[in-house]
Amino acid sequence: MAVRSIVHIDEELCNGCGICVSPCAEGAIEIVDGKAKVMKEELCDGAGFCLAVCPEGALTVEKREAPEFDEEAAAEKMAAKLAAGITIKQKCFNCGRSENDAILFPCRKQGESTWVCVKCLPALIHG
Ligand code: SF4
Repeated sequence: MAVRSIVHIDEELCNGCGICVSPCAEGAIEIVDGKAKVMKEELCDGAGFCLAVCPEGALTVEKREAPEFDEEAAAEKMAAKLAAGITIKQKCFNCGRSENDAILFPCRKQGESTWVCVKCLPALIHG
């Protein structure tokens, strides 16, 4: 155990939509009984890529005592999810490319959490 950054999920705010599950590159988050949960703390690296996609503001990163991040276990977990046919839900709001086709960034648009791809981003920035 060590004091480190780790994702905190506010169950009061979480609506169980599941949008945060696939952005988690470590496969640490799953939906259990209609709420997002960090299944094993050692799978969460605390990078917080899931934060920007949550429409309810239920995700934060906190510093507290937790098991150290286990990179090998996280890679195994994600490989197992991919082998099981994880659903790729994220698409660029502008062109519809998925993360299979282009790198996606989380972004906010008109009050909603969404995704934009690297191919559309320059035109959106510069017009
Ligand atoms: S994105 Fe937010 S509201 Fe949706 S399941 Fe994850 S924590 Fe809950």
